[in-house]
Amino acid sequence: MAIAEITAVLSGIKIAKDMVKGLASLDSDIAIKSKSSELLSVIVDLQEHILSMQSKYSELLQSENDLKKKLVEIESWNKEKSNYELTEISPSVFVFSSKECGDSSSPSHWLCANCYHDDHKSILQFNYSSGVGSHYICHKCKSEICVHAKEYLSSHREDFGPRSGGGTNGWMAR
Ligand SMILES: [Zn+2]
Repeated sequence: MAIAEITAVLSGIKIAKDMVKGLASLDSDIAIKSKSSELLSVIVDLQEHILSMQSKYSELLQSENDLKKKLVEIESWNKEKSNYELTEISPSVFVFSSKECGDSSSPSHWLCANCYHDDHKSILQFNYSSGVGSHYICHKCKSEICVHAKEYLSSHREDFGPRSGGGTNGWMAR
């Protein structure tokens, strides 16, 4: 796209140069006027090409800036991801929980696993309690998770099937 524009401008400049050179060899006013008018049309053409290149260049600069911004966001999110680990907070209920890193300025919290995989950091917020347990909601994708109450789990153990263990991050370790 830009290459074609540059080629058009360069060939326009060559045509204009040749026309200016040719003006000297013309001996009648009529011939000079006619060549001048052709030359003007070549210059107007050149001007249009240059304006179009200028506008495309601005678009390219804008998209370069947008890409740089996006790259910084991705790099920063990838770095931040290492502060979280996949955790089963209730049978078959997964979140990404903040690792304990001695940073007291950030209270421990859970991220929505759905949004996490879409590269969005969305903190799960407490929504309400019921007989089943505590319900948390992701305000970004609107998904809801439930941390089942111990009493509910013990009376509905068969609903969750046999388990081999929850590991150190699992609900069985709590
Ligand atoms: Zn979400």
